[in-house]
Amino acid sequence: ADMFSKSAGVESASWKKGEPVPYAALCQTFELIEDTTKRLQILDYLVKFLIQVIKLSPESLLTVIYLSINKLCPEYEGLELGIGESLLMKAIAESTGREMKKIKESYAEIGDLGVVAMNSRSNQPTMFKPKALTIPHVFKTLKDIASLSGNSSQKQKVDKIKVLLVSCRNKEAKYLMRSLEGKLRIGLAERTVVVALAQAIVLSRPDIKKLSKEKLQTELEEAASVVKSVYSELPCYDMIVPALLSGDIEGLQKACKLTPGIPLKPMLAHPTKALTDILDRFENIAFTCEYKYDGERAQIHKLEEGSTMIYSRNSENMSAKYPDVMERLYKFAKPDTNSFVLDCEAVAWDREQKCILPFQVLSTRKRKDVKEEDIKVQVCIFAFDLLYLNGESLLREPLAKRRQLLLEHFLEVDGEFAFAKSMNSTHIEDIQTFLDQSVADNCEGLMVKTMDGTEASYEPSKRSRNWLKVKKDYLAGVGDSIDLVVIGAYIGRGKRTGVYGGYLLACYDPEREEYQSICKIGTGFSEQDLEDHHKELKEHVIPEPKSYYVLGESNKPDVWFAPVKVWEIKCADLSVSPVYKAAVGIVDSTKGISLRFPRFIRIRDDKAPENATSSEQIAEMYNDQKLNTVKNDTSMGVD
Ligand code: ATP
Repeated sequence: ADMFSKSAGVESASWKKGEPVPYAALCQTFELIEDTTKRLQILDYLVKFLIQVIKLSPESLLTVIYLSINKLCPEYEGLELGIGESLLMKAIAESTGREMKKIKESYAEIGDLGVVAMNSRSNQPTMFKPKALTIPHVFKTLKDIASLSGNSSQKQKVDKIKVLLVSCRNKEAKYLMRSLEGKLRIGLAERTVVVALAQAIVLSRPDIKKLSKEKLQTELEEAASVVKSVYSELPCYDMIVPALLSGDIEGLQKACKLTPGIPLKPMLAHPTKALTDILDRFENIAFTCEYKYDGERAQIHKLEEGSTMIYSRNSENMSAKYPDVMERLYKFAKPDTNSFVLDCEAVAWDREQKCILPFQVLSTRKRKDVKEEDIKVQVCIFAFDLLYLNGESLLREPLAKRRQLLLEHFLEVDGEFAFAKSMNSTHIEDIQTFLDQSVADNCEGLMVKTMDGTEASYEPSKRSRNWLKVKKDYLAGVGDSIDLVVIGAYIGRGKRTGVYGGYLLACYDPEREEYQSICKIGTGFSEQDLEDHHKELKEHVIPEPKSYYVLGESNKPDVWFAPVKVWEIKCADLSVSPVYKAAVGIVDSTKGISLRFPRFIRIRDDKAPENATSSEQIAEMYNDQKLNTVKNDTSMGVD
């Protein structure tokens, strides 16, 4: 009972039924969560708090969820926090009267602006007590701040932050600052929030006390799995939370389904290292091979009322990048299609030679405000899946059926729209030939997918073993390229004078919201690359490494960068390292994993830093590699 009252934020006695949730109650829960590393304990604190919200102020539930995952709206709306440090320090200085110099010093010492703000506040004598912050007020202000743009927006932002800061009590300033920075760092992963939400809804049911312990446990688990799956189909809390509040878990499945206009999280593929892996995995299962096109994922939506949009792998709206494709959609879709969602790859296309151009060409296409008449790089859309058609979701249909509907309801248009090339054969020679052919046609390799039955449904957001990717240069090395975030650089010497000579890279741990150093890199760059990287990255130099960079002692680049750029990297193999921190705690309690012979491949503008290869994936690659070495008793090829 004691923990209950603590975790439920009842200490802030002013929280009465029907009134907005006090911000203090949320911060108290955050503090409890931050102070433990036990997953179940974290879940428990949040569930208890959410039950309280549902009981006292259900209309705040949605906002509480957003604040807990530190977002302002669904991803595809594109409104984000991530206010710069200098702006935040300015707000602290102006609201507390502390000197900027002092604030900078204590930030350098503590490494956490949240704590700096909190400490600065407690030094401040207060003449009168401002009104306590509430969740709706804080959330609205955060949204206003993120929406501000234009010349005078900096000052306006500082002013709004100041107003909030002045009203902060106890630990509130700490969490407020971190929210503004865009990194809450309390060890609360979004998937935990989703599970907590599901459980809190179940536990708030009036009949819940009547259930046996076992029954309750099953219901909790089922609820969590339903809400997770609904979310990956319809990643929009604005729709999910109200549906949960007004109905139950079952009702949620009916009310919230894949909806054209709202991008779903794409299904992802598992890497393979050899063609024989495919046969091992798909023994006795029907499968199909498709070209793996090397472009940019494009999820094309058409709503019944006529509007259309294209979303990226990251659920970013790319309609403004592809006005030409939008314009031509009517040609590809037969007149009997009212609404649909297509999963495709947009690929650069040479109209004269009638062939696919490498990814590098596509990446030179402008991303914003593209005017049709200015387009230099033409694209062809290669459709490989149909997820929704005429009011019906097809996610649970097998690929064979989805593909059949795709072929029936859409038309190929020369150089503009085509179906992904496919081949069905279980003979390894045929697969090898098809792979070679795909490479000759400027593709990256093959995608191999299950065709029939429940194993062939579309699994949003999953890296599924029902989709295998085979890349052309897999057969040696770790199997897949890795996407890493650039966090630092070394000043170039000799031939590289005037540009950066090498870079420090990191992977991302979404659970801990940390970037962990993984390797230095100096190869794979053309001279042009070096120039371009220098020009782009010097805009992102920061004086100190971020507090959420996890570094080995000797990771000391000459300059640090904010985490903005994602690069695709290949390497010979992975090894346990005392110097780097990637996946620390997973494979070894103190050592990390590092890449050997890393080589730059390309920039990944379609991935946000948070979508970089995760610590978990790095650990998995390392473990797979160990297994294979034992199995084949061969060392990894170094190219
Ligand atoms: P991750 O590394 O996280 O898996 P990624 O974006 O690097 O993601 P890949 O692993 O290279 O993706 O492979 C999956 C991607 O391949 C898809 O996201 C899609 O953009 C592309 N692709 C090309 N052709 C196909 C196809 N026929 N079927 C499915 N995806 C395809």
